[in-house]
Amino acid sequence: MVDAGKIWFDGKLVPQAEANVNVLCHTLHYGTAVFEGIRCYACPQDSAVFRLQDHVRRLFESAKILQFDIAFSQEDICQAILETLKINNLAEGYIRPLVFLGAGGMGVNPGDNPVHVIIASWAWGAYLGQEALEKGIRVRTSSFTRQHVNAMMTKSKAAGNYVNSVLAKKEALQDGYDEAMLLDAQGYVSEATGENIFIVRDGIIRTPPLGSILAGLTRNSLIRIARDLGYEVLEQRFSRDEVYTADEAFFCGTAAEVTPICQVDRRQIGAGHAGPVTKALQKAFFAIVKGENPDYDRWLTHYSL
Ligand code: PMP
Repeated sequence: MVDAGKIWFDGKLVPQAEANVNVLCHTLHYGTAVFEGIRCYACPQDSAVFRLQDHVRRLFESAKILQFDIAFSQEDICQAILETLKINNLAEGYIRPLVFLGAGGMGVNPGDNPVHVIIASWAWGAYLGQEALEKGIRVRTSSFTRQHVNAMMTKSKAAGNYVNSVLAKKEALQDGYDEAMLLDAQGYVSEATGENIFIVRDGIIRTPPLGSILAGLTRNSLIRIARDLGYEVLEQRFSRDEVYTADEAFFCGTAAEVTPICQVDRRQIGAGHAGPVTKALQKAFFAIVKGENPDYDRWLTHYSL
């Protein structure tokens, strides 16, 4: 089990063992929670949370879509995250805020069930493994379709949306792959189970537009970084065979960071290892999150332990 030390629970810091819920809480039965995944990194002088305000803003937008009223402000949650990191002495790791509905009515309509907020944090290395960051991963196209934009609210990072991801991830792992690539309801490439996707061909970088995908903050950051490095970046739909014939492909996300893809559906991508554009973006990304590039300091919320 993850050791999250103390967890911030509705304004109080409590030991993980005491941060419990009633088994009749609405979220446990109907998947009605919204959450975030945020990373903090050790920097040369201190530590920093990457794009803290943007993640907290997305948490509140996810909650708005599901009509949850959070009793705290975005600023309160930002402060609570920093407080949680400090009490847990966490210089580098992962942060998981979650807004969920407590016990009350048992019907599908949440009614007046209380809205709770927790913030957990723990040390977490490379999500798909250190080797994946260097050598790349093997991917299969999922047999599961990504949710249609009018079936699930894909811009809300809602717990229930992740049943689709769990099915796709299990299928990929059971078939000997590292990760799944899901297609949207029209058959175009959308994203992975917890990552956005980019492809590169003839030096031009492409990523699917904000349709059936989560508006990833790593995706958003990489578009900015790539343009600043002089690359052309297009937000454009593409099909799975365009991934097969790309020169390079990679996944990105808070947990997965920038992970090269070396194979999709048994077709080698490019040279079969991280290509030059992927490597350049990965290098720039890690320098920024670790506070080694002052040009992007606006994306960092520094804290000291
Ligand atoms: N898509 C999905 C389905 C995800 O769960 C995530 C992880 N939050 C992403 C994309 C990447 O988003 P971000 O870069 O904001 O972590």
